[in-house]
Amino acid sequence: MPELPEIEVLRRSLEPHLVGDTIERTEVRDPRLRVRVRPDDLARRVNGRTVLALGRRSKYLLIELERGETLVVHLGMSGRLTLVPAATPTEPHEHVAFYLRSGTRLRLRDPRRFGMVLALSTSRLAASPHFAALGIEPLAPGFSGAALAASAAGRRGPVKSFLMDAGVVVGVGNIYATESLFRAGIHPTRSVSRLSAARWERLAGAVVEVLSQAITQGGTTLSDFADGEGNSGYFQVSLAAYGRAGEPCPACGTPIRRIVQSGRSTFYCPRCQR
Ligand SMILES: [Zn+2]
Repeated sequence: MPELPEIEVLRRSLEPHLVGDTIERTEVRDPRLRVRVRPDDLARRVNGRTVLALGRRSKYLLIELERGETLVVHLGMSGRLTLVPAATPTEPHEHVAFYLRSGTRLRLRDPRRFGMVLALSTSRLAASPHFAALGIEPLAPGFSGAALAASAAGRRGPVKSFLMDAGVVVGVGNIYATESLFRAGIHPTRSVSRLSAARWERLAGAVVEVLSQAITQGGTTLSDFADGEGNSGYFQVSLAAYGRAGEPCPACGTPIRRIVQSGRSTFYCPRCQR
């Protein structure tokens, strides 16, 4: 499943090609995605409009169009959004395509059809049901240890589950949460009610580092993305703890331990993480 860093790399790779271009025509070959595509509504809101900017919120790509509309794309489990010459033959599972004035086609291929394509008023994005419940954006300026601590006020429960709660902070999946806690030296089962301000700051810093590293490493395959053959899922981050049960901790040599929290594997160093 594509994670936040992959969507950010996709955003960065598409941005220089799409901004300034105009969507001339929309083709919906199969509307049966996670949320059923409404071809008429989509065409009415996007056709003839020029792309102003590419944004991202959590794992949603936001293609901001002129005159107050935004094209929202989510890749679901298996979606691929790629830009190809307009005359490129249609591929299997290419459910939605946008033909651009420059002679290119932005196409969504999604074999499992968990993706989403819809257009919304830009001014109503934040309040829409898809976005209203989302937590803090970890790569936005407002993200900090203090912001995490504020979200944790009055709560209990393990810090790892808290970190993976998209209502708190978006985009921190199991691997990224595991690695962030390792870097911050925080035990994954520690209660959020028992973390000092300094440790919250270390944790926020570690989350940004881990995500940024994934984006940087994913960015090295940018050209692959442009033609749509990018790797899916987690970008390769150098994993210090995740998947390394029994191997020596890179910091202190103590064997890494594995436990299961809320059905997910967690790996940690019993000496470095308290
Ligand atoms: Zn250690």
